[in-house]
Amino acid sequence: MKKIAILGSTGSIGVNALKVVAEMPGQFEVFGLAANSAASTLARQAKTFKARMVTMYDPEAAMSLKTQLNGHCKHLAPGVEGLVELASHPEVDVVLTSLVGGVGFAPLLAAIRAGKTIALANKEPMVMAGRQFMREAAKFKARIIPVDSEPSAIFQCVQGHLPDRAAGDLSKLIRRVLLTASGGAFYKREGSLDGVSVEQALNHPTWKMGKKITVDCATLMNKGFEAIEIMNLFNLKREQVEIVIHPQSIMHSGVEFSDGSVLAQMSPPDMKLPIQYAMTYPARTIRVIEPLDLVKAGTLTFFKPDFRRFPCLDLAAEAAKTGGGMPAVLNAADEVAVSAFIAGRIRFTDIPKVVEAAMRKYKGKPGLPDFPEVVELDAWARRKAEEACAAP
Ligand code: MG
Repeated sequence: MKKIAILGSTGSIGVNALKVVAEMPGQFEVFGLAANSAASTLARQAKTFKARMVTMYDPEAAMSLKTQLNGHCKHLAPGVEGLVELASHPEVDVVLTSLVGGVGFAPLLAAIRAGKTIALANKEPMVMAGRQFMREAAKFKARIIPVDSEPSAIFQCVQGHLPDRAAGDLSKLIRRVLLTASGGAFYKREGSLDGVSVEQALNHPTWKMGKKITVDCATLMNKGFEAIEIMNLFNLKREQVEIVIHPQSIMHSGVEFSDGSVLAQMSPPDMKLPIQYAMTYPARTIRVIEPLDLVKAGTLTFFKPDFRRFPCLDLAAEAAKTGGGMPAVLNAADEVAVSAFIAGRIRFTDIPKVVEAAMRKYKGKPGLPDFPEVVELDAWARRKAEEACAAP
């Protein structure tokens, strides 16, 4: 049995991962669970799956969890400390990182340095310092298996071509990646997006996910992030990643190889599949999703994204091309802007303005920042974005 630790077990990826575990009896032991603040949900999960270790990021929630579990399992320290300990625990085989945002940075680094197999759903650290993480993974012989549906699709398409059975350098083999996007909540909406509400932004047409990523889908920043994540995972240039709007979310991305052949991965939009694949990799096992009905899907359509209407796409592309510390600035500013929008402090169309304001203030230096520099830069960019939120 593979021993698995889930960082972010109460979010949509974590919940789906536990469904996969439940549907594959005898395959996985849930060694540890961690989440931000949903103590009751985590307590229930820990009892159902007999987790050996638990931790909550929020200290108050950690207290509440202790009361609810009442000596059932070992409690690690709250905050980043517990996440890092769980991510690098010697008994863990697979670390599923489905935390939201930059908080996953230190746990990912710890898992890599412990040489773990990492099922990676938390894309923000790979935006902040993806090249550095890939280098570190090669050094410590850690394997990074993408869980996000699009990078997973690409990863599935290139099987048989990868060195060391993990994400890695495909710059010679791949001519182009076709990165598909559902378009988010506002793809079909006409007119100005100035006055759209938080509720409208959270109404995603095909995927049910957490708030942060759903807003990122509505601004298309999520696609900009994924383009950077994919560049970093497979050592590609930004020009090799082509974003295509595909509203049905059936084709989850494709790869055009050097000879012009295109392979794409298709399935119903259900995260259980990429989660399961990352957990069982390199094996393909039983089906835990509904079968794909192409006749029912009927028509699959593809469009060019509208860069003018969704300025986050350009900002992300600029950060990708600039490189160095700029993607970390992009990520931090977006996190601040999205939470300000959800809290009703700024408008939807202020999100790219806040991100751009932070990016314009950044005077990058040549070369890739090291990990401590990225952490510093992240804090700096959050302050700049907060200032921009106060006066967007
Ligand atoms: Mg995705």
